[in-house]
Amino acid sequence: MQPDCIFCKIISGELDGRVIYQDKLVTAFPDIHPAAPVHFLVVPNEHISSLNDMEEQHEKLLGHLLFVAKTIAKQEGVDEDGYRLIINTGPNAGQSVFHVHVHLIAGKLLPIQTR
Ligand code: 5GP
Ligand code: ZN
Repeated sequence: MQPDCIFCKIISGELDGRVIYQDKLVTAFPDIHPAAPVHFLVVPNEHISSLNDMEEQHEKLLGHLLFVAKTIAKQEGVDEDGYRLIINTGPNAGQSVFHVHVHLIAGKLLPIQTR
């Protein structure tokens, strides 16, 4: 828990983030500025600033983040139509919150951007 981190405050319940899922390792809640009809963030409960700070000990956590994201996609009914998972890392990717998060974006045809 980092006192000035907005996602840590949502995880701890200090801020209302309308948590839709929480377990020992991760928490999921809607993005405050949705980029699509369905837009959730799945975050580790542990404060880790970016993917660059993930260590070998976090391998299970990384897998769990993806597993929970795909489970939420099914629960939200977007698994068949499809969805996108994004982890922005660093300035070139536009990372703006420095607590690792997986974006789950769905609910419309998403533009394909590979470069
Ligand atoms: P990034 O640009 O770092 O990949 O994504 C950060 C995301 O966090 C953005 O999509 C932004 O809308 C979202 N966000 C920023 N502040 C808050 C907040 O206070 N609550 C929630 N639920 N999402 C937030
Ligand atoms: Zn944090």
